[in-house]
Amino acid sequence: MISVKEAQDIVQQQSKALESIQLPLAQALDFVLSENVKAPISLPPFDSSAMDGYALRYIDGQTTFELMGEVQAGSNQAFDLKDGQAVRIFTGAMVPETANAVIMQELTEVNGTTVEVEGSITLGSNIRRKSEQIEANTIALDKGTLLTASGIGFLASMGIETVNVHRKPKISLLITGNELVQAGQALQPGQIYESNGLTLVSAIKSIGFGLQTYEMVKDDFDATREALRSQLEASEVIIVSGGISVGDYDFVGSALEEIGVAQYFYKIKQKPGKPLFFGGINEKLCFALPGNPASALSCFYNYVLPALRSLSGWAQPLLNRQKMICTTAFHKRGDRAQFLKAKIEDNTVRILEGQGSAMLHSFALANAMVYLDEASGSVKPGDEVEVILLP
Ligand code: AMP
Ligand code: MG
Repeated sequence: MISVKEAQDIVQQQSKALESIQLPLAQALDFVLSENVKAPISLPPFDSSAMDGYALRYIDGQTTFELMGEVQAGSNQAFDLKDGQAVRIFTGAMVPETANAVIMQELTEVNGTTVEVEGSITLGSNIRRKSEQIEANTIALDKGTLLTASGIGFLASMGIETVNVHRKPKISLLITGNELVQAGQALQPGQIYESNGLTLVSAIKSIGFGLQTYEMVKDDFDATREALRSQLEASEVIIVSGGISVGDYDFVGSALEEIGVAQYFYKIKQKPGKPLFFGGINEKLCFALPGNPASALSCFYNYVLPALRSLSGWAQPLLNRQKMICTTAFHKRGDRAQFLKAKIEDNTVRILEGQGSAMLHSFALANAMVYLDEASGSVKPGDEVEVILLP
């Protein structure tokens, strides 16, 4: 069995960024830039007012200014202000070229055709200088940047319409298990409701990916093999739930072998999720997750998610980690690494009750996982632990 670190390294080696595509900016949220983006214009594109008030041309000691007119935001009206002259101006409006300060209206008083300024005047005040945010033709966002709402907004503010980003992989999900029933049907003795499907669909969606296909098969060798074969044709990352253990009705491993999927690893020294399988064929990747619901999701976050992110261009694909003080005790037995469902509260972390691999209740309440590596011992309240932040 390999360690968590070894397994994550293997996933990394097999998950290289996919090629670049051009997307309309409006569709580029959660994609990673595959090229540097240059600023097509300067920001701001002109000297603009940071306040509602008066733009004026100040000379030493002057407090009263002759009013020449007004400039609204969006107006292109130009004023050639002489010493001692001012215009009414609004936030975002173009500041007259010869103005040397903008005074906020709260510090002024208008008397007919003049405006009086209270207090001292600082040259250049309240003027947003052309290109103070960014200069035309310089790099606005680097290759490798993940486009968030703010990144999209920043590019939009320069009038950018399309961006080059890494393509995302096509993903398929295959759920196995004779005992599984969909909601809406009554449970017969021995049956349980299928939940990994919706769990994984939701997890995939929550990190900005979509699904190509989502199917269920019975524990049957031929059905499993044919479903895997067709999913491998239609998609690039296949995620299978269940059927990868050593039971007599676990056919996923042998079906993958028969269609030629090479094994990169099988079984990790970890809890939950020991029997995780990772393999591939023709640049396509296959993760077979153990069917226990908490194992499946834990394996998704620690192995599948990093692979999906790497394929779509992320340089740091693992979930963020942080050291924190743990407020609860945990008795660790054996030499397997543990991923424990946990809750961060007030900058400390609490390991939740109910860590069984079939239990989703604690996961549903968790916002983090405490990670104890293979060599770690038990945890006492007050110990510092490594915490994985869930998305
Ligand atoms: P398996 O990995 O197929 O041996 O399944 C391990 C355990 O997880 C069994 O108790 C299954 O009933 C359960 N299980 C497998 N697949 C699912 C699923 N899709 N939804 C809920 N439970 C499942
Ligand atoms: Mg099964």
